[in-house]
Amino acid sequence: MKITIHTVPTVTYTLIVDGEVVDMAKKDNPLEFIQGIGMMVPGFEANLEGLTAGSTYKFKLDPEEAYGPYDEQAVVDLPVSTFMVDGEINKDLLQIGRVVPMQDQNGNPLSGTVLEVSDEKVKMDFNHMLAGKELDFSGEILHVRKATQAELDHGHVHGAHGHEH
Ligand code: ZN
Repeated sequence: MKITIHTVPTVTYTLIVDGEVVDMAKKDNPLEFIQGIGMMVPGFEANLEGLTAGSTYKFKLDPEEAYGPYDEQAVVDLPVSTFMVDGEINKDLLQIGRVVPMQDQNGNPLSGTVLEVSDEKVKMDFNHMLAGKELDFSGEILHVRKATQAELDHGHVHGAHGHEH
């Protein structure tokens, strides 16, 4: 079976960014996803489209096909009081490089990376970690099957033993 919309490919992958392996799924713990519903970045799905079990793949994605360009506007200074919990600044959170789960004005979850901390302000970067990066993917297609109706209704893959939620 070919990988097309609403199939479930099982694949291994290695993701290399700036010459370093940043993520990997091997045969004993492969990636499964539903093709064509936006689970993966657009360029990943486009390059796997039409492949069958046993195929290997290797391709590079520009930021535009992956996590988008780096957005300078997504680097913002927040008042230190943003990180106040029960009247105290949570110093554990305010460490350079720390990824902090937060919410936007509409209550949507997003995470930001702490870039700089001063007495009054915290500089946060809300870009995706891979924004602006070229992604180098390689791997193998292990298996392809049709997604079940329940999987399409739920928008995720069900394992061999179903799921509990
Ligand atoms: Zn489900």
